[in-house]
Amino acid sequence: MIEHECRACRGSAGELVLDLGEQPACDYFPKYDEPGPDPVYPLQMWLCSSCGLAQLLADPTVPEEPRGAEPAALVAQAEDAVRRVAAAGLLPANGRVAEYGSPHGGSWLGLLAVRGLTPADGAEEADVILDCFGMMHAADQAAAISERAARLAPGGLLLLQYHSLDTIVRLGQWNALRHGHYAYYSTTALVAMLATAGLSPRTSWSFDLYGGTVLLAAGRDADAEPGAPARSDDTVRALLAAEKRTGITTAAALRGLQSDVTTRASALRDWLAAMREAGRAVLGYSAASRAVALLRSAGVDRDLLPAVADASPAKHGLRMPGTAIPVISPGELTARPPDAVVLFVPDLMTEVRKAYPEIEASGGEWVDADALSSRPAAAH
Ligand SMILES: [Zn+2]
Repeated sequence: MIEHECRACRGSAGELVLDLGEQPACDYFPKYDEPGPDPVYPLQMWLCSSCGLAQLLADPTVPEEPRGAEPAALVAQAEDAVRRVAAAGLLPANGRVAEYGSPHGGSWLGLLAVRGLTPADGAEEADVILDCFGMMHAADQAAAISERAARLAPGGLLLLQYHSLDTIVRLGQWNALRHGHYAYYSTTALVAMLATAGLSPRTSWSFDLYGGTVLLAAGRDADAEPGAPARSDDTVRALLAAEKRTGITTAAALRGLQSDVTTRASALRDWLAAMREAGRAVLGYSAASRAVALLRSAGVDRDLLPAVADASPAKHGLRMPGTAIPVISPGELTARPPDAVVLFVPDLMTEVRKAYPEIEASGGEWVDADALSSRPAAAH
């Protein structure tokens, strides 16, 4: 029996649904010549049996990620999202907005300013509260939702954007689990959390980002017409119905992630070994947190992957946590293009192909790390 109190409902009944074993802190990039071994910590996902929130079990790490470069896909999605929310008539003219952003960067305030919204001062009330990948970073989920609800002005709108747990399960994205990300929201569990704060969902928009990202709009129950229940529209009902079919709040639905670990990790390892065997040079791209967990689970080190390139200058001269693999600049990658570049963040595919044409111009290819399990080893 695991001793844990749900980060949202404080319940103690739940199950371990994904165990990645001992992992280094994915935001701890040691200097290249720092010998290690790097400290490792258990990395596990726990599912609350009471409220259905999937969450990080324990997190002994201290976040210190060098802020990464903001991917073009993220910037484009923010523009698309603001356009869609505005088109729905949900951005009040001259409204005040409070943003709870992600510590990894990216803000919508500039886009909202163009629509006439001004930032609320300090902790004052706001007509629009925007949380874009912010709340997942709160260890105490109950406190985080209360804080946001408390700042919502009468008639206001809470916009919450999250990488949906339904996507994580459907696409086998087990390496979305990382230290510092405390909650993995299904729409179902999030709606339950909103209810505890007197809020209910009104509408939602879905995006391709990360394979499936949801922007959920919620309002106060007290703002609904007297006597009428607060109504959510078809988009919300469709999300909830789809999650009911997959059983997203049940341990059975999440357990598949554990077998995805083995499948993905051995696919990467086998492919890298086959490439080495064939005398073909492979480098990696993106020192993102999901690359850390994948490389570690696959037991891949410098002999199979000599370097990982990353656009963030803050990471150059460092090495991937838990391995001896150095992080290099994109300039070093394109100076001597390898036969293949394995990409750890599929959302970057369009952007990197455009930014570094040298790779394909010299006969190399970009390979999606997540698609390797469906790709025959040594395809050359
Ligand atoms: Zn709970």
